[in-house]
Formats: sequence, structure tokens, C-alpha cells
Amino acid sequence: MGSQAVVRLPVTRAKPGRPFDVAIVGASIAGCSAARLFAQAGARVALIERRPDIAAYKVACTHAILSSATPTIAALGLERPLEDVGAVRTHADFWTPCGGWIRAPADAPRGYGVTRRALDPILRQLSVDTPGVELFAGQTAVGLLSDDGRPAGVEVAGAHTNGRTHSIRARLVVGADGRESTTARLARVPGRVRPHGRFFYFAYWRGVQPRTNRIRAWLLDPDGVSQFPSEDGLTLLAVAVHHPRLPEFRSDLEGAYARRISSVPDAPDLSEAQRVSKLIGKLAMPNVMRPAAAGGIAFVGDAALATDPLFGSGCSWAFQSAEWLVDETAPALLGGGNLTAALGRYRRLFRRRLALHHFLIAEFSSGRRLLPAERALFRAASVDASVAAALEQVVSRRRSPLRLLDPRLAPSVVLAAARSGR
Ligand SMILES: Cc1cc2nc3c(=O)[nH]c(=O)nc-3n(C[C@H](O)[C@H](O)[C@H](O)COP(=O)(O)OP(=O)(O)OC[C@H]3O[C@@H](n4cnc5c(N)ncnc54)[C@H](O)[C@@H]3O)c2cc1C
Repeated sequence: MGSQAVVRLPVTRAKPGRPFDVAIVGASIAGCSAARLFAQAGARVALIERRPDIAAYKVACTHAILSSATPTIAALGLERPLEDVGAVRTHADFWTPCGGWIRAPADAPRGYGVTRRALDPILRQLSVDTPGVELFAGQTAVGLLSDDGRPAGVEVAGAHTNGRTHSIRARLVVGADGRESTTARLARVPGRVRPHGRFFYFAYWRGVQPRTNRIRAWLLDPDGVSQFPSEDGLTLLAVAVHHPRLPEFRSDLEGAYARRISSVPDAPDLSEAQRVSKLIGKLAMPNVMRPAAAGGIAFVGDAALATDPLFGSGCSWAFQSAEWLVDETAPALLGGGNLTAALGRYRRLFRRRLALHHFLIAEFSSGRRLLPAERALFRAASVDASVAAALEQVVSRRRSPLRLLDPRLAPSVVLAAARSGR
């Protein structure tokens, strides 16, 4: 994947005495989406990012974007730029040991396959170009301001300011600063941590066969392998392995990665393929969820919920939570309404939409084996189009997991369980 020039933006200095409507900490997916949508609603937004390079991107991410996020991507005006950069419109197929392939219906809405190296700079530029957004690049949030106990802005420090800080005042502070959210730490809003039992390694390839616009994911009970098509003919091949196998990877990383990929049924054919990146690993990523609004501060994206990436939901939820926050709070923020009540509505909406998905993903991320009910469901989905369609709605996160309790699906699932003798 070659190197890219560092593009530094001039650091913006807040004009004294003119408070912002919103100060957002973190200019990645969630922060840039929230900044653009708030500004489009008429807000004046300070977007604070510790990295000075506008082309900076998140490396440790396999960047599958689910169809649950496509309405937000459209609302941001991001569809065309993604098309221009060659993003792949994806469906996801799953292989399980209980019945083989489960195919996404051809008419299901599609997600996106696009690298963070392409996505992050495009989204950041789109956000910065939105009238009303001011980017404070190379500035790290180090403190929170308060007036009479209410959040009133952010204290920031640049890399070369000898410890001097300056204040960015705003009516609403948003933490979009990722899994280890400094904003949450400063605001003393702890997250609930659920244990995580997997590690990930991945690399980019060219020339992988079959060439497809479908994500192919193998749920190997308990490991996982995924093939993600992206722009420019790139394919990302990832392995998700449970922790007891870490010594095998430590002693022979290249060999263990290659063996895990080549051992799956219908494995990607790498005979003519070339690896074009180093192997990228992520060994520790506890599942963390905190209230999406607390103490007058809102959290979006990973700052609110960082879940296991096996099912590739974090980027989509970063987009979506930004839109939910703006929808719920912009009228109160800009029209003089009750901001506390609006933040409460956002917190409840976030929880209603994502808590059950997260609970199930996090519980599965322990590295445990498939349960009998899951085996029956996968077996039924591999032979029954209506079960496959319902499952696709859930794993693309467009519908609640409760969708799978639809009694009309039960006969197929029960039959599949009976046929397999489980
Ligand atoms: C191995 C792995 C694979 C993944 N694969 C997928 C996948 O396939 N699909 C998917 O949807 N998700 C995936 N994810 C999850 C996804 O990467 C995250 O959910 C997503 O990046 C969250 O976006 P965000 O904007 O909330 O946070 P981030 O992308 O983490 O951005 C946080 C931003 O805040 C900035 N920041 C932090 N602290 C400060 C501070 N104090 N002051 C100023 N700025 C600050 C950071 O520099 C950064 O720009 C994966 C994650 C991992 C670890």
C-alpha cells in the first residue's frame, strides 16, 4: 500500500468571546460525521483532533461498513465521494460448520468496502469544508471547562506549546475520541467492560480469487476468517483467533496466518495474489459500553460503545450514532429548547438500537463455542431463504436481534435442528 505525504492543516485559533455551539473531541468517523451534520443544521462547531495530518487514518480496522449505515452516508453526502474513490458496494456471505454458506439475498441493501486510508481523509475534508465547522488539528483535549457545574467547553493543548493550554467554549461537548475516550475519563463517565477473548491479524492483498464484491466470512467455531473487497482491487484478509492460540501466532506469525486462511472451505485462492502490506495485529480490545450521554456530555462512536470487531459494526455505529445525536439535540441546541431532555432522548435511542446487538456480540467474543440454538439457526439459514433474509437483516444491524424470534421462522429452525440430530 505505499506511503502518503503528510498534509498539515493550519491550527485554527478560537476567536475570543464567541462560543461555539458544539465542541467535538476526535475527528474520525463519528466526530467528522457529527460535525458536518451539526453544521448543516446551522451550528457553529469546533472539531478538535490530536493528529495534525488531515490525511491521517485508523490503521487497526478492517473497515467493513454495513448497510445499516448507508442512510447516514447518504445524509452526509458521502455516497458520491465513495463512488469516485472506487468503494465496493458489498453484500456479506457467511460460512459456518452448520450447513455451509449462508448467502445474503440479492436484493438486500448493500454496505461499502473502502479502506480507512481512503475513507478517513475524504470524510475529514468533507467535514472541514462544511460551513460552520472549524478544525483544531494537532490539538489534544486535556480538560473540560464548566460553568456552575455544567460542561462549557474543552481545554486543549498543542504538541509544541510547552504545556500551555487554551479554552474552546461551547454549549455542548461531544466525546468522539474512540475506545479509550479521554473525554469520558475527564468527565468521569466509566464504561461497562465485558471480557474479550480474541485477537486479530490482517493484511492487504491484490489478485485474490475469486474476485468478488461480496464479503466472505467464515465463522469457524470459535475462530473467524474474513475476506473484505475494497477499492482499487485491494482485498483485506483477516483472521480472528481465540486467545489460547496466541503462542502459535507468536512463534510463527506468518505461517499461522497463512495456515488459518488456507484451511477454510472454499478458501481464497492466493496462488496468483500478492501481499501488499505488512501483517497488522490487534491483540487487546475489551468490549466497553457507557451511557451515550451523561453529565451534559454526549458520546458517539467507539467513545460510547466499542464492541468486538468480528461482525464489523463499529464504523457503521460511529456514522449512525452521530446522526442520532444531531437529530435529537440540534433543535434544542439551536432553538433554545431543553438540551438536557434532548440528550436523555439520544441516550435512550442509542441504548434501544444497539444494546442488545452489543450484548450478543460481546458475549460471543469470549471465544466460546456455538450454542445449539445458533447451530440450528445457521443450519436453517443455509437452506431456507426466509431465515437467511432475517439473519442478514440482523447481522447487517438494520434490525434488532429480536427479529430472529419471529414465530414464522420457527418451523424451519426446528426442522433444521431435528435433521441435524441436535
Ligand atoms: C482490529 C479491528 C478491526 C475492526 N474492523 C472493523 C470493521 O470491519 N468494520 C467496522 O465497522 N468496524 C471495525 N472496527 C471498529 C472501528 O475501527 C471503530 O468502531 C471506529 O473506528 C470508531 O470510530 P470513531 O470515530 O468512534 O473512533 P476512532 O476512529 O477511534 O477515532 C477517534 C479519534 O479521536 C482522536 N482523539 C483521541 N483522543 C483525543 C484527544 N484527547 N483529543 C483530540 N483527539 C483525540 C483520535 O486521534 C481519532 O482520530 C475494527 C476495530 C479493530 C480494533
